[in-house]
Amino acid sequence: MANLDDLYREIILDHYRSPRNRGELTEATSRTEGFNPLCGDELVIYLVVRDGVLEDIKLTGHGCSISQASSSMMSSAVKGKRIEDVRRAIDRFKTMMTLHEDGAAAEPAAEPDLRSDGELAALAGVVKFPVRIKCATLAWNTLTQALDEATA
Ligand code: ZN
Repeated sequence: MANLDDLYREIILDHYRSPRNRGELTEATSRTEGFNPLCGDELVIYLVVRDGVLEDIKLTGHGCSISQASSSMMSSAVKGKRIEDVRRAIDRFKTMMTLHEDGAAAEPAAEPDLRSDGELAALAGVVKFPVRIKCATLAWNTLTQALDEATA
């Protein structure tokens, strides 16, 4: 049986090498920039939001493998979803990226699960490397901002 860590690494590399939903959207209802100064990751999110649904999303930008893979995974996880479900997915991901407050042991606050979290579970291991958490959450924080702008 393949090691789960190997599978997760494979998922992250696949999104890094073949990022989903890359490009610009000329008909976008919002265009939002995100930046992670700790690592230099940059991201622009284009959204088309209509009738409470995130109809389309595209991304441009550059950065480390974690930020690129996370933004690609984010885009495929939320595209076509209702806005309230998108916000729920953001909350779930950010919970996954939060450390317990019980001392030195860095453990995900929410146990990731491949069945319910899908490919996003692959990013849960990032929480063990606190300097990389902002790389993983950049896309999600920028998406929150983009939704606020698109639905304002
Ligand atoms: Zn980074």
